Formats: sequence, structure tokens, C-alpha cells
Amino acid sequence: MRFAPLGVAGQRRLRQARVGIVGLGALGSAVAEQLARAGVGYLRLIDRDVVEASNLPRQALYTPDDAEAGRPKALAAAAHLARLAPDCTLDPVPSELDADNAFRLLSGLDLVIDGLDTFAARHLLNDACCQLALPWVHGAVLGAQGQSLAVIPGDSACWRCLQPEPPEPADSPTCDSVGVIIPAVRLVAAWQAALALQLLVDRSRLRRALWACDLWAGTWQQLIVPRDPGCRSCGPAADRPALAGAPAAVVLCGRQAVQLRRPAPGELRSLAARLGAAARILDGVCLRVDAEGLSATCFPDGRVLVQGTGDPVQARAWCDRWLGG
Ligand SMILES: [Zn+2]
Repeated sequence: MRFAPLGVAGQRRLRQARVGIVGLGALGSAVAEQLARAGVGYLRLIDRDVVEASNLPRQALYTPDDAEAGRPKALAAAAHLARLAPDCTLDPVPSELDADNAFRLLSGLDLVIDGLDTFAARHLLNDACCQLALPWVHGAVLGAQGQSLAVIPGDSACWRCLQPEPPEPADSPTCDSVGVIIPAVRLVAAWQAALALQLLVDRSRLRRALWACDLWAGTWQQLIVPRDPGCRSCGPAADRPALAGAPAAVVLCGRQAVQLRRPAPGELRSLAARLGAAARILDGVCLRVDAEGLSATCFPDGRVLVQGTGDPVQARAWCDRWLGG
């Protein structure tokens, strides 16, 4: 309240604000913590994944206990944030943002934070936010390099103005394939959180540029991104192609994990009872099954995340054996 650009009125505005965070890995979980502590009144925490031990050096909201249990990140993040900021309303959504659910998952929000780790998902988020005229804050970090950009549909350049089409996944390194250092995560998360506070309270000093840094080289730059009049997301003839995509089996790059879409596994407790010692319920909403050297987490939205293999055929056969057809 004593920081003049926010003041009492700004703090009240933050209390009323509803912010969605899509992706609760290194960046998303760090921005979530800052916004919860800053007094944002409502956070919708959207993530498709579970906590693994290899996440802990960079995803500072989580603990070894979360990794041991294989807790869904959305639920683990909500549990930790509830202790840090008991006045914040937390809405955990253990789902993957896709073309079918994007409008539902982003409805009723004032702002969205990008904590995603694939280009395809970011293009989908951009298309959905342009359609909804919903501001969002891009952030990305890799190695010691990072970048951020505030996107105000209809006003500033959007993500697709900068990157018309997503590159092939094989061409794009990820944190899982080349690593990341946590100081770079913290720096980019701080830029994202500051942009979020500005977008929610006071846009007079908001920088409409892509900010990029290399923390190891000690360099940073701001790049003015012009709006593209032919942009398929925000231009006058926008067709927003990512919203037409169909979700499919996904091999999570850089790790031994495959995500499948299956019919919801029915009543989790009866499936858990049938599987006996191989299964346990996580946070009351997900089912974890460990068998034959693989493990799987069944989410309420019908996704199954199989860990321990990068082969979709093996993952499907394992699911047929253990979860039923
Ligand atoms: Zn655009």
C-alpha cells in the first residue's frame, strides 16, 4: 500500500483480481507464489503434470514429499500456496489446456500467466486469449536465458505477431533437455509478476516490448515487437488456427513420459480397490498406479500420464492391461 503506484486502491484492486496461471513448472509456480503473497485474491492453477524429483532444483514451490507421492502440480501448488497466503482463493485445475477446454478454463479471468513449456501450447493460449480479449504475460527461460512480454489483445503485439507458427518440437530445446539455472527462473518470474501487477492496477508505465536477458553473460535487451497486420491471432482476418487442433497422444520431450487420452477411468475408488497395492488415490481426485516398472497418473479429465517409457505403443498396452480397455 505504501508503494505509490499501487497504493490502497491498487491493493484493493489486486484483492478483487482473478488470475489464471497455465503451467506450474519453474516459472508458473514462482509467479504464483509472488502473486499470492502480493495479495491477488483469486488464482486458478492449471497444470497437466505431476511433481518429479528432477523438478525440485528449479520448481521451488514443491518438496521431496510431493515428488515421492507423484502429486499433481496443480494440487501440490494449491496446498503450499494455501499455507503462504490463506486469504487467497485457490482453484486447482489438474488439466491440460486444449482447444476443447480453453474457453472454459480461461473464463472469468482478468489476466493469464504463461508458465508453459511448449510452443504449440503457447500458440493455443495466445489464440484463446486473443479471442477472449484477455491480457496475458508471456515468460520463457532456458539455460541462463529468459524473456518476457505482456500481450494486450487489440493493443500490443501478440505472441503470433512475433512467432507466426510454432516450430517443430524436435527443433526446440526445453528445460528438460538442456537444463536451466534457478537465478534465471527467478529473474524472468519477477518480470512476469511485475507486468501482471501493472496490467491489473496501472498500465501507465507498462513496457510494450519483448525483454530478453542472458544472466550468464550479464546482458539484457528490449526489442520493440510491431503488430503484424496479417497476424492469424490478432489481425483483422484472424482465424486462430490453434483453436481447431485436436488433442492426441503426446510424448513429453526430454523425459520418459507419454500422455494418453482415454475415457475417464470411471469411479477412481473402485478402480483403486480392484488394483489393490498397485494403486493409490492422490488428493482425492487422481489415481496413481505403479506396476511392471512403469507408473501412471489418471487425471479426472481423462488424461493418463505414463512415466517410465517414451514409447506410446508400450504406454497404451500397459494402460490396457492395468486400467482396462
Ligand atoms: Zn498478433
